[in-house]
Amino acid sequence: MQSRRDAVLNLASLLHHAPGSESEVEAEGLLEPSAELLDADGLTLDGPAEWELHVINTGGDDDFVVSGEVRATAVLECRRCLTQVPVDLETDFVYPMVYRPSEKPLRLEELDEAEEELLVFGQPEVDFAPLLTELLAIEVPITALCKDECLGLNEEGVNLNEHPELAVQSQKKPDGAAKIKGLDEALRELDRKNQA
Ligand SMILES: [Zn+2]
Repeated sequence: MQSRRDAVLNLASLLHHAPGSESEVEAEGLLEPSAELLDADGLTLDGPAEWELHVINTGGDDDFVVSGEVRATAVLECRRCLTQVPVDLETDFVYPMVYRPSEKPLRLEELDEAEEELLVFGQPEVDFAPLLTELLAIEVPITALCKDECLGLNEEGVNLNEHPELAVQSQKKPDGAAKIKGLDEALRELDRKNQA
């Protein structure tokens, strides 16, 4: 499957109320969001996002429900050593959706009650790329570690995973770390507890 910049579904067949018109539209694809979308959500991806979407007409005039899934691999910086860490993201979703003819792109509107959200589309051709990108961004963890035992960087910025012999040395002189307000005291407290 070819990856695309957009994730467009044509929902025209759902908008006709004539007998025999379809009541669902299904599609899947590979999305490589534009730099603009990625920047807006502060997202870096490794490869395209896989998505699936399923829109059904719920029987009302212009009322629909969209459900779907999106998966991708994000790239984060290890919080200790700053190397790049791949993080798998996966999310599924269900939104009520309504058709209100306009020039505006697909958008989420807050419903007053119960913090529910409603997707509003204005054209039969709907690009889900911004929504899918945003949903991935929400799944990104705040921080990442390249491995649990990551040794981080020393004061000179040397990656201690690559030079573990330097790690022992820097642990012996915690002067740099002690500059953080309150940490010095917290460490002394810990020492006291350990000795007790
Ligand atoms: Zn690391």
